[in-house]
Amino acid sequence: MNRNLTRRQFLKAAAAGSVAISTTTSAALLRKAEGAGAGRASGKPPNLVFVFPDQMRGQAMGFTGQDPVITPSLDEFARQSLVLTHAVSTYPVCSPYRAMLMTGKFPHANKVLSNCNSNSAPFGCELQQSDICWSDVLKARGYSLGYIGKWHLDAPHKPYVKCENNSEKFAWNEWCPPNRRHGFDFWYSYGTYDYHFTPLYWATDSPRNKPLRPKQWGPEHEADLAIKYIRNEGGKYRKENKPFALVVSMNPPHTPYNLVPKKYVDMYAGKTYKDLSNRPNVNIEGDTPGGRLARKHIKNYFAMVTGVDEQFGRILSALKKKGLEDNTIVVFTSDHGNCLGAHEQATKNVHYEESMRVPFLIRWPGKIGARHDDLPVSTPDIYPTLLDLMGFSVDIPKQVQGISQASIFLTGKGKRPASQLYMWVPVGKPALGRRGVRTHRYTFVISKAEGKPNEYVLHDNVNDPYQLKNIADEQPQIVRELTKELVKWLRKNKDPWLKIGELK
Ligand code: CA
Repeated sequence: MNRNLTRRQFLKAAAAGSVAISTTTSAALLRKAEGAGAGRASGKPPNLVFVFPDQMRGQAMGFTGQDPVITPSLDEFARQSLVLTHAVSTYPVCSPYRAMLMTGKFPHANKVLSNCNSNSAPFGCELQQSDICWSDVLKARGYSLGYIGKWHLDAPHKPYVKCENNSEKFAWNEWCPPNRRHGFDFWYSYGTYDYHFTPLYWATDSPRNKPLRPKQWGPEHEADLAIKYIRNEGGKYRKENKPFALVVSMNPPHTPYNLVPKKYVDMYAGKTYKDLSNRPNVNIEGDTPGGRLARKHIKNYFAMVTGVDEQFGRILSALKKKGLEDNTIVVFTSDHGNCLGAHEQATKNVHYEESMRVPFLIRWPGKIGARHDDLPVSTPDIYPTLLDLMGFSVDIPKQVQGISQASIFLTGKGKRPASQLYMWVPVGKPALGRRGVRTHRYTFVISKAEGKPNEYVLHDNVNDPYQLKNIADEQPQIVRELTKELVKWLRKNKDPWLKIGELK
């Protein structure tokens, strides 16, 4: 299989048995892949465990020295991992991130320009069945694939699924039918559902009208299942002699923050909001919505992070006990961060560091050296990077827009991106909204709305790490340089936001 296959050709090849259907073909392809990716996977193809809680900001890990949060599992994991200290969510909200993760394409190419719900559904906003996801590639390579937790990539359709997140007028949650699961053969998932103590899931064979409703805190329930999958209890979760990829997509520390087990809140006993809030961009003592929100929720948010950390630690222990630690790539990241009152912002979908910066830790013992690296990785890069690391660079479809950073992951050497794109698109208006770039030094954003002049924001993240000042008017030369950088991204993405001649 080469890099130029379309999905149609890919599926045809798979159906004809030429793509990893037989063991012999699979082995031949693997040998080819190893040749193409020296220093990548060799011998037995690696497993992948990809864990990403929802709305966990990059600052909320104890070892970073930023939020005073308790995360012993992540602190230990960080000592064994490559930690990307400048990882961001390119479009820091649920579905756009998730679609970029799955397709390796930016939103204008994968059609997920907004969150999937009944508002965006008429615009065709959902993961396209025709896209070749990284999971499709691994499936064709003979992998077992499991998805546990939040998916949020289907447009709700009428009659809406009856559940608390949906009303007759507005819907978030939707079942993902088997033909839209992109290779995941073990399924225990849902679209959007935020009742963390009474979560809702559709298992592999659950019909749309019969979701399961366990009574257990979501991350703990999902870790229990992930552990069963890793152990392959009763041989019923995956093919024991095949490599596997498992995604665990936890909902906390997403809202509502009060839905967190008391044992995690108790770990912050005696701490006041003043002890926990250390960001000068939060009006922590003030009578503003942001200040009130931070005072009310910061402890529970951190408690949720601690709960997620403990469950992640349990998954890591299961891998170790099963003897799979060495040949499994483990990634821990998030779909976006959380402002929690910073800049008077409630949550995400803005350019501020609390919203954009996400954890990104990757461990592969003996292959990826443990260290911190300030590589400015973008969300669509994750797909080609993982496949490249796993030895499948030849399978990366040409439609993928992200760039493999595997060389930098493995050796620290290689061409580094100059910047990261930032995006927000209003529902149904692909040529409007905010576009920006983030570099090691600056965050720069242009906001475009109907009938209004463009608004410019520029932050110097080195001299003003909490982004308290907008210096766009004082720094016209930097605005010009970063506009040029932004235009490169927009041209690459054929983004209709960019009208020829409008930006100099
Ligand atoms: Ca989210």
